[in-house]
Amino acid sequence: MLHSKPREDNYLHKGLRKQLVQALREKGISDDRVLTAIESIPRHFFLDPAFERIAYEDRAFPIAADQTISQPFTVAFQTQLLEIKKFDKVLEIGTGSAYQACVLAELGAMVYSIERQRALYDFVSQFFFLKNYPNIKRFYGDGYEGLASFAPFDKVIVTAAAPFIPPKLVEQLKPGGLAVIPVGKDGGQKMMRIVKDKDGRVKEEELGDFLFVPMLTGKHR
Ligand code: SAH
Repeated sequence: MLHSKPREDNYLHKGLRKQLVQALREKGISDDRVLTAIESIPRHFFLDPAFERIAYEDRAFPIAADQTISQPFTVAFQTQLLEIKKFDKVLEIGTGSAYQACVLAELGAMVYSIERQRALYDFVSQFFFLKNYPNIKRFYGDGYEGLASFAPFDKVIVTAAAPFIPPKLVEQLKPGGLAVIPVGKDGGQKMMRIVKDKDGRVKEEELGDFLFVPMLTGKHR
């Protein structure tokens, strides 16, 4: 299978990544650690070779099973909001291509990522590049349930549009933890950051407009 074979990361790809990082800086991403992670991960590995030349444009792309790899700006924005520290336990809902998971892992997080589409979960299992990240654990399941057996988490990130803030994900957040969730209908969402204080009280911040594929209920075979 194509996804299982190593691919080339040459000076051209590296140059394009530098330009992408510069573009993200100009759009307001200021966390150097996040930008360094994006600069070091070959995004073209996550896409069909047909998209190789445009892999470093700041836009979303189709992947397997009618899903998308998020726009780099969105990945950078959500990651920056999470204030990742080394060894943070992070729950991700919507593994998709695993690009976001790799950015978190590159920052030293212990990533627990759930995908509801079996085909996509299996496809990513073949992906050669993930061997670099033993700190990513992937699960086939329904993100609305979270991962009770591994809770609590320092951080939670949802990479699909949630119609509401899923209560179990807030429950599974540690006191002092942060969650970043795009909330809203199909046509557009508000990026919400949920802060749980030391006493378990929850505050919500609204941080701009985004467009994600929907967070669906249940597992898909
Ligand atoms: N983080 C991904 C973005 C993937 S798009 C990346 O970096 O490529 C959103 C993903 O969320 C899709 O793969 C979709 O199948 C998945 N998804 C939607 N609803 C879900 C749910 N309830 N639980 C787990 N995954 C879900």
